[in-house]
Amino acid sequence: MRVKCALFVEVTEEADLAALDWSALPRPVLVMGGGSNLLFTKDFPGTVLHVAICHSSHSCHSERSEESVTLGAGVVFDDFCAWAASEGLWGPENLSLIPGEVGASAVQNIGAYGVEAKDIIAGIRAYDRTTGQFVDIDPADCRYGYRTSRFKTEWKGRFIITAVTYRLSRTPRPKLDYGGVRKALSCHSASLSCHSERSEESLTPQLIREAIIGIRQAKLPAVEELGSAGSFFCNPVISRGHFERIVAIAREDNGPDYAVPHFEVGDSIKVPAAWMIDQCGFKGARNGGAQVYPGQPVNASGTASPQDIIGLENQVIQAIAQKYGITLHPEVEHV
Ligand SMILES: Cc1cc2nc3c(=O)[nH]c(=O)nc-3n(C[C@H](O)[C@H](O)[C@H](O)COP(=O)(O)OP(=O)(O)OC[C@H]3O[C@@H](n4cnc5c(N)ncnc54)[C@H](O)[C@@H]3O)c2cc1C
Repeated sequence: MRVKCALFVEVTEEADLAALDWSALPRPVLVMGGGSNLLFTKDFPGTVLHVAICHSSHSCHSERSEESVTLGAGVVFDDFCAWAASEGLWGPENLSLIPGEVGASAVQNIGAYGVEAKDIIAGIRAYDRTTGQFVDIDPADCRYGYRTSRFKTEWKGRFIITAVTYRLSRTPRPKLDYGGVRKALSCHSASLSCHSERSEESLTPQLIREAIIGIRQAKLPAVEELGSAGSFFCNPVISRGHFERIVAIAREDNGPDYAVPHFEVGDSIKVPAAWMIDQCGFKGARNGGAQVYPGQPVNASGTASPQDIIGLENQVIQAIAQKYGITLHPEVEHV
């Protein structure tokens, strides 16, 4: 289903933002990157503003092995991952193939396979709508957390990110202990007729990028083939006591030795929303044109209307609250 906005504005340089007649724009103003984390539920009465600033500048600090690159907010994030890998620079390789643009990476604190954007963001440049000035924001002030930042909470609507600086390194720092990356690398090596186990020293950002792309493509078809929201829900983080109750329920359902997938996050436990959705029988479930995708059961996909998606979302939320006492929160922002 198509939705319309009252006005669509695209800026290609910072000066365009400063020159905008803000008082003349239909309200509200929504800043959009690639739109991959937005679900438009109806026509939008205001202005959709796309920051299509696409410059790039790369600095080497030869005395250290650290380097940095500053990219306009409109650069496609995966183009950055591909470039860094091709240059042999470590940093974003585990974030390969995440849809969207550079600006949103700093809003969302995108993450995958044990790495988050905050681990490599060195600086953010933004236009402050409250003062009409451009500012440099220290990532330490952004209160980054799991898929969140101040840009999504108390700063919402205030800053328009125009550029992000990422920290990169020539020193190998592979992150392999998450989501089957190590296993995928050994399979990948085998398929290249190499030794089946690679030593960590022989790894390159390019090899890890290819392994990550392989894992992601095996889980979910390309968005161009099948429209998808990616991971629709955030993975809930719960107390250890609550987790023990979930383990008890899971063992009643699946047998006494059943192991519930989980990740330690400090004193708390992160449980994959996908696992709960699967356990509640929603794998493959449909509502109109929306579907929980069978291979990765957290994706609403297909030719869905917003109402189809929201209906399915509510069914999932209710079922999981009833069974596990957890309220799932959508990662996808509803507009
Ligand atoms: C198939 C699929 C797989 C995905 N996999 C992952 C994954 O593995 N990990 C992960 O973290 N996410 C994942 N996502 C979610 C999505 O890729 C990220 O949230 C991404 O950062 C969205 O980028 P975007 O440019 O499309 O942002 P949009 O969806 O356009 O916007 C996201 C938010 O950022 C704000 N924003 C965008 N640009 C700016 C700017 N320049 N200044 C200020 N605010 C701005 C918007 O207002 C909105 O609030 C996936 C999505 C899909 C569809």
